[in-house]
Amino acid sequence: MKDVFDIISLLIIFSATIFFIIFFVSSIRERKPRASWLSAGIVLLSFGLILVIYWFQIWTLSYILILLIFITTLLFFLPLHKPTPMKVGTISKRVDERNTMFAREEYQPGTEKYEAYYAAHPELKKVDDSLRKLPKILDPGGKYYDPIKSEEIKKTFGLIKKLTTQVDGEVNEITSEIDPIEVTKLLKDFTIKEGADEVGICELNPMFVYSHVGRGPEKWGSPIKLDHKFAIVFIIEMDYDMVEQAPDIAITEEAARKYLDAANISVSLARKIRSMGYPARAHISDSNYQIMLPPVVVDAGLGELSRMGYLIAKKFGPRVRLGGVTTDLSLIVDKPIVFGVQDFCEVCKKCSENCPSKAIPYNDKTIVRGVEKWELNVEQCLRYWRLVGTDCGLCMKVCPYSHPPTFVHNIVRKGIEKSAVARRLSIWGDDFFYGRKSKIIN
Ligand code: SF4
Ligand code: SF4
Repeated sequence: MKDVFDIISLLIIFSATIFFIIFFVSSIRERKPRASWLSAGIVLLSFGLILVIYWFQIWTLSYILILLIFITTLLFFLPLHKPTPMKVGTISKRVDERNTMFAREEYQPGTEKYEAYYAAHPELKKVDDSLRKLPKILDPGGKYYDPIKSEEIKKTFGLIKKLTTQVDGEVNEITSEIDPIEVTKLLKDFTIKEGADEVGICELNPMFVYSHVGRGPEKWGSPIKLDHKFAIVFIIEMDYDMVEQAPDIAITEEAARKYLDAANISVSLARKIRSMGYPARAHISDSNYQIMLPPVVVDAGLGELSRMGYLIAKKFGPRVRLGGVTTDLSLIVDKPIVFGVQDFCEVCKKCSENCPSKAIPYNDKTIVRGVEKWELNVEQCLRYWRLVGTDCGLCMKVCPYSHPPTFVHNIVRKGIEKSAVARRLSIWGDDFFYGRKSKIIN
């Protein structure tokens, strides 16, 4: 009987070793040398221990190891502390798109917009003027400027710009009577077939509609009237290898490509809904958004907001771009999800530590328009973008949620979702296997 138990104990240790063998292989595929070496070391150590136990018959050591494996696994998956949801109070005011950083950087001295804006907001003039003195993203002067790639990226944004005139259009006069359950499935399937990775639906919170036009082809400063009841939103995964090159120009190449994909999907989806006889408007980059996509995507159950300000999706983390369509067609809505991001970000702070412009806060959340969240220093972030000539993305790259959805990372994600101990262990594990600091700090 004891012999059988001893052999089982060795098999359990061997199973734990297999986990690290899989981790070793996926780390090589992800081109993470530190994680590869460390996991290889753990595998060798485990085999060494198995040999020592078997050779010298030190079965007590095997029982201690099993106990450790058992306790760790239990603590990792036991729902010890429910993940904390974001706290959303009453949002009383809509955001004016003219005040967003991307709108402000476009105001050029001597223009009507410039005079009008800074007459109303003199407190922002100095900081915005200092930003405007730096080279524009993708223009010569930025650290990662590449004449060929920069031109290609500009062409991609040019294609998106052409789509801004197609976000809305004629609605078919013949309205199809459709069952909300059926049409919800049909539109979700359509969005996925068009190229989205995940899609969700929510009632559109009117507070997430911009109050005035700040960018795009519509008249600057005109009030935005969008009373659509629903939003269909989606995420598209950004390529892992491209994000890994951040803050090099590869990150901007990838972002532009995914913005174009998102724009094409949104325009097709809105067109499809209008062909059914219901109004629908696509919200696309460069810049034709009438809604603030991140909070809408949260409402539609596709992720949570993080310390760095990006949406964190369950499967791809912050390595996503967003798209969406608003409509009056009645749809079945999804519910927001909570999977541990707030608790994880509370402790992790890896993005804050790696942000070269110190734009991501280390401290606690603050109340921003009724929502308790971490607030990014957008001016500081944009300053670094202009210095390097790309949209940086270092925070996205270092975030532990950015790992690709492989077997090992998915197991860790499951633990993070369930257990407070898993969250702590994963933060420690991420630092151990991948390092606390990204090598490319400029
Ligand atoms: S790096 Fe850490 S703190 Fe920053 S967003 Fe990702 S999980 Fe949150
Ligand atoms: S994009 Fe770069 S500069 Fe901006 S917050 Fe992230 S790490 Fe900081």
